[in-house]
Amino acid sequence: MKGLVKTAPGVGNLEIRDLPEPTAGPGQVVVEVAATGICGTDIHIQRGEYACVPPVVLGHEVSGRIADVGPGVTGLKEGDRVTTETYFHTCGRCRACLEGRINLCPERRSIGTHVNGGFARYLLVPAVKVHVLPDSIDDTSAALTEPLACCVHGVLELTGPLPSDVVVVSGPGAIGLLCMQVAKAAGATVVAVGTASDEGRLELAKRLGVDYAVVAGRDDVGQFVRDLTGGVGADMTVETAGAAPSVAQCLQFVRRGGTFCQVGLFGTPVTLDYDLIPLREIRLVGSFAQVPSSWTRALALMADGKVQTRPLVTGQRPLTAWQDAFDAFSTRRECKMVLTPAG
Ligand SMILES: [Zn+2]
Ligand SMILES: [Zn+2]
Repeated sequence: MKGLVKTAPGVGNLEIRDLPEPTAGPGQVVVEVAATGICGTDIHIQRGEYACVPPVVLGHEVSGRIADVGPGVTGLKEGDRVTTETYFHTCGRCRACLEGRINLCPERRSIGTHVNGGFARYLLVPAVKVHVLPDSIDDTSAALTEPLACCVHGVLELTGPLPSDVVVVSGPGAIGLLCMQVAKAAGATVVAVGTASDEGRLELAKRLGVDYAVVAGRDDVGQFVRDLTGGVGADMTVETAGAAPSVAQCLQFVRRGGTFCQVGLFGTPVTLDYDLIPLREIRLVGSFAQVPSSWTRALALMADGKVQTRPLVTGQRPLTAWQDAFDAFSTRRECKMVLTPAG
């Protein structure tokens, strides 16, 4: 089978390689991939900015069908439509694992960074990581369960806005559009903030149910948030763009004693007015990846129609056209892209 492999550390070093097809060992299943989303993390790996263990097949946002069931696996059969959690291995013994925060396990090895991922026809995963999909969730939508689970983790599980809260989400990329929908599902009033180049995405945010969309640099976002909150500021701000000016806005627009949730990654150190955090007693919450409960919740939100992932997918390409798809995603011509297996 063909797989998109990070062949060595550093910038670039990505190529399609011929690989042996995996077979399921005890407790494992092989998933025949239907669709795999391109994530910001994949771009960071392409640029040599995110840790991975090459040679490794990238891709961790996967939907597909069970193609092989290993010995001892119960409750799954060939043909089941599934998505899969991303942690191939966690230790089960460390402080983080014992607290259920397996995303923080120092021994965590994930598909698409440490072990072969979903940019290939077949993917080997532990059976316990697989979730069977409801019929109402199509393959393309289901490939976005992973990014949605990340947003559920940050917005619902680590912070949790109240229905009375005003939540500002900065950055209307795929992660931002999912965080906005999750905050809406929690009942909050949601403000999407983007730049002039985001106007199409801000329109999409409105269509997906976001209450307000404002353009930084054109609208006076600070005044808008103050007007909306009686001069107080947002109860919660969520940074999803991984851009320093976006963080500055989030720290500026959150109310005193409010919550700032950092979801986006920067890939490099950034400079901030950090004094705002103590001076305003801003509660700073970092959110990384997801935990098993995030997946159950993400799938429930999709099945209930409270979050839509399909409208975010603006492009689909065969795996062999990965370069074009990565370029279209990283230059923001497309919102979310999925690759489908080839060969
Ligand atoms: Zn991802
Ligand atoms: Zn652990």
